[in-house]
Amino acid sequence: MNKTFPRVIAVAALLALLVPHVPAAQKIYWGDSVPPGWNGKWPAKYLTVPERTDFERTASSTEVLEFIDTMRWASDKMYVFNMFTTTLRRTCPAVVLANPRVTSPDEAAKSGKTVVYLQGNIHAYEPEAKEALMMLLRDILLGKRKGLLDNLIIIVCPNFNVDGTDTLSLSEGTPHLLGSAVNAQNINLNRDAIRLETAEVAGLYRTVFNRWDPTLIYDGHLMGRVQHGYAIGYATCTVPASHPGPRNYVFDKLFPAVREATRKNYGLEVFTHCETDGKWPPTVWSHEKAMWTNEAKFVANAYGLRNRMTILAETPGHESFERRIYAHYALITGVLEYANAHGKEMQEVCRAADRDVVEAVKAKAETGELRNFVAGTYESYGKVDILVYKERNVSTLIPGTSVRARIAPHMLRAPELVRGVEFLCKPVGTAEALVPRGYLIPAELDFIAEKLRAQNVKVEVLAKPVKVSGEEFVIDKVGQGRSGGYNMIKLDGGFAPSPVREFPAGTFRVDMAQSLANVAFYCLEPQAADGFVGWGIFDATFKSLGVDKRSVVYPIYKYFKVLE
Ligand SMILES: [Zn+2]
Repeated sequence: MNKTFPRVIAVAALLALLVPHVPAAQKIYWGDSVPPGWNGKWPAKYLTVPERTDFERTASSTEVLEFIDTMRWASDKMYVFNMFTTTLRRTCPAVVLANPRVTSPDEAAKSGKTVVYLQGNIHAYEPEAKEALMMLLRDILLGKRKGLLDNLIIIVCPNFNVDGTDTLSLSEGTPHLLGSAVNAQNINLNRDAIRLETAEVAGLYRTVFNRWDPTLIYDGHLMGRVQHGYAIGYATCTVPASHPGPRNYVFDKLFPAVREATRKNYGLEVFTHCETDGKWPPTVWSHEKAMWTNEAKFVANAYGLRNRMTILAETPGHESFERRIYAHYALITGVLEYANAHGKEMQEVCRAADRDVVEAVKAKAETGELRNFVAGTYESYGKVDILVYKERNVSTLIPGTSVRARIAPHMLRAPELVRGVEFLCKPVGTAEALVPRGYLIPAELDFIAEKLRAQNVKVEVLAKPVKVSGEEFVIDKVGQGRSGGYNMIKLDGGFAPSPVREFPAGTFRVDMAQSLANVAFYCLEPQAADGFVGWGIFDATFKSLGVDKRSVVYPIYKYFKVLE
């Protein structure tokens, strides 16, 4: 052993105490810029479509399949399964990256490693996360990011909206041809997380969420033109009905650490997925201004109801395609590095939330003391400093073309730092309802039981009759409300305590002492604006009960006590 070694360290430590800490000047990349050669050097067969085309094209669904196939032949650390088949009969592979390779959720659970799910292209006209994920897949399997598999099992679906990816239209800037926002049935897949009416989102739940139970998910998007100076914005679940443990962990611990790492390792400024009020100087930094909501129709919100960690990230739409890919690559890698180092802690936060949800029901639901939220809004966390451009982000034609320029020239420079704006991102509940000990669903409403099971909620069938006491919701009127661009059903009426009721064998029962109780509550509560009622799943049932002529009782019974 070298005896001088400790002394050298001691001297260095002393010097560190004496010399004031001056951080090394960190180069930050603004506007369209990226570090040269950031994606490494690869043989032609391992290049993605943007890399092969000077970032003018994005991969078609066939090219995604080809890329995954190329990787499959080059690596023994991949397992590929099909998540679903679309209405146009196309398949959607998900790739499980693990070292050693795993081929089942059981093996993954036994390994003790943290399972993470990464998704691109749910909106196929936002292809940057798709491309970033394919590069990352390659870099993990064949390049310098192998270490991410030390403690992680990473499931990657680069191209979630397969049909939308191949429904092409002309775009401004690059890529020149873009997929569509919706699937082949004209449905926005990122509004289907409660209703689960598409093969795509139902397949995501059936084959990934309900089987592999990822601790963390990442859903990659693109914004429109923004005024802020961040390369990418991130949000986590903000549904007030969800357990705060996992979402607070992501917001308070993971995001700040990843923000630092992204600045340090990638030269990018990143922050929450927000926008300002458009004033100068801006007074708010708000989720809502960036179209992020408290509603679980969005996959990254719905997954938070399951006591798990979620991230939605969006890059500004006006920057170059390469820059947008780089931003997703940097953020995803930062998130994975964090999860690789803190996976055990993250798993424990989620398991603690699972236990907490069950224990709260057992301790407080029978006596009618347990409540949860059916609606919410955002309040301020306090003041925050943000990077914003003062000049508006106007678009002009590229000279000599009919194409709008993506980026205004002033946005190639550094933005201004505006101090002390309200940080309007704290989810709070605005209306609540009692959480029952359980819900009883009449046997003829088997489609409701099936919808809940698709969400992984445990639903039993009563083997013998039960007598219960609880409360019932009396519907006076079925109305319509508009929310987030959708016509939603809204019930007028109120709860009343019910006399003792007996339910026959064959009735479906949701025992709320289960870890997915918040999902069941969100879906079944009659006043939850975005639950099954809101999405019109009960419309025919309400009609058949005669709601057009008189007040009727909401057919899902909330019981607090089982009497015998
Ligand atoms: Zn999107």
